[in-house]
Amino acid sequence: MGRAVNVPKFEGNERIGWIEREIPEPGVGQLLLEVKANALCGSDRAQFYHGSDVTPGHEASGVVVQAGAGTVHPVGTPGVVFLMDFCGKCRNCLRGATNQCLNKRADMGFNRDGGYGKYMLVNENIFFPIPDNLPLTEATLLLDVMGTGGHAIKRAELVHADIQSVLVSGAGPIGLGVLAMAKILLGSAIPVFITDMIPYRLDLAKRLGGLPIQLKDRTLQEGLHAYGVDGVDAAIDTTGKTMARKANLDALHQRGVLICVGHGERLELEVSSDLIATERAVLGSEYFCYNEIATNLVHLQGNFDYLTQIITHRFGVEHLEEAYQLFLHDGRSGKVVIEQ
Ligand SMILES: [Zn+2]
Ligand SMILES: [Zn+2]
Repeated sequence: MGRAVNVPKFEGNERIGWIEREIPEPGVGQLLLEVKANALCGSDRAQFYHGSDVTPGHEASGVVVQAGAGTVHPVGTPGVVFLMDFCGKCRNCLRGATNQCLNKRADMGFNRDGGYGKYMLVNENIFFPIPDNLPLTEATLLLDVMGTGGHAIKRAELVHADIQSVLVSGAGPIGLGVLAMAKILLGSAIPVFITDMIPYRLDLAKRLGGLPIQLKDRTLQEGLHAYGVDGVDAAIDTTGKTMARKANLDALHQRGVLICVGHGERLELEVSSDLIATERAVLGSEYFCYNEIATNLVHLQGNFDYLTQIITHRFGVEHLEEAYQLFLHDGRSGKVVIEQ
């Protein structure tokens, strides 16, 4: 096209300016998308504070506006973008574990231009087409909220086939996603306890069917006791905090599983009592696999009003800096989405 557009420039120190960028031309196997929405994520924090050479944004939806040679999705196709540009050929990709690709080409929004620009160039393998009638803002729920949340639940089910109770630590967007996907994948009757200190987030968790535990004035154990239980089968930590992980581990029943989703601090284990005698497991869970999006799309369509409660704020891209201030500092938000 040879045309230029203004795109946000993350300058660091919580400043977002604008720079001019040429609109890229899609090559063989590539699609040029006109971005319609991109959700804010806690993992953008480092870019907001320390700046970024590429345009951030890794929870994007958009419409194909130019299709490179050899692609199958025609101009006009709406869809969402999977963060990790996987090779599709390595041992892990062939197993479907595209979140563990051994020859990953890029992480969109981290080392390749992401979803806060007006246009986004993607290899077609990471584009997932969606139906025309699915709104593009809400479609971003297919990414970190449903994808990462659902993957964590499935990781827990790998080692525990009869989960009857769940604990989620942290009621930020990922915690809310884990809560919602626990309800959808395990059944709405399964109790899902969820901790936080911010009343806004606990209220939102409650509206999603969670059993809130306010950790400002009690311990996790006291919170569980107040509900008449002394432990859970699966605990999912989204905080990355040592204290939260340890408290979660201590709250597990025998055969229980701790899933670590939030990056961050350490976890120390008493192998004999924590793992061997109780046959508990500790697993990590990183993002999700591309092939999970198709099923999650069915869940999104079937639980649209329920899931879209997680989106609490929408901003135009010109208010991106303000959106991050709200999202990272205020606490009174669920998922915040930038619309273009
Ligand atoms: Zn994210
Ligand atoms: Zn691969």
